[in-house]
Amino acid sequence: MSIAYLSIGSNIGDRLQHLVGAVQALHSHDGVEVLAVSSVYETKPVGYTDQADFLNVTVCVETVVSAHELLVACQKVEQELGRVRTIRWGPRTVDLDILLYSNDNIETESLVVPHPRLCERAFVLIPLLEIAPTITHPVTGKLFSEEAAVRDSGVVLWKKVNGVKDFLQLKE
Ligand code: ATP
Ligand code: CA
Ligand code: CA
Repeated sequence: MSIAYLSIGSNIGDRLQHLVGAVQALHSHDGVEVLAVSSVYETKPVGYTDQADFLNVTVCVETVVSAHELLVACQKVEQELGRVRTIRWGPRTVDLDILLYSNDNIETESLVVPHPRLCERAFVLIPLLEIAPTITHPVTGKLFSEEAAVRDSGVVLWKKVNGVKDFLQLKE
């Protein structure tokens, strides 16, 4: 049994419904149980900035599937929710990234964990710290709460969430 943290984002169409649909799909996947979901945050796009604002959440899952199988599951959820890949860091119906998988340090062609851009992204760190305030980087041992990006003001609480059940009942 492993604990993993995932980041989910959407900036096309019914953004909240895409996040809820992604969490539902993960939860119904064999061997994956969603233990916690953060509040929903609204964030300005980074990387490619000429696009709509994102809604983001971080989820904690308990799983018996491997990190690579979890990536495949995430990609399946993206496809089911209609993601089309166009420009890098461009608009997307839904994006699921594996932030952390146990204390593993994975560097393969298709999967890098901890996620390489995790520490520089407020839109990932702020929801992560809401559900795991004392969590540390498995490689450096540093508290995520001490990362400078956490103080970024571009991430706004959009909807408070009180547990997985509450989240799954949200509507935009
Ligand atoms: P970023 O990774 O900077 O957030 P992105 O999410 O827009 O960018 P994608 O187009 O969704 O990038 O994914 C590109 C590739 O990243 C995927 O095909 C996947 O194999 C790879 N990848 C590597 N590490 C991870 C990870 N930890 N979680 C999800 N995908 C990953
Ligand atoms: Ca991403
Ligand atoms: Ca991705």
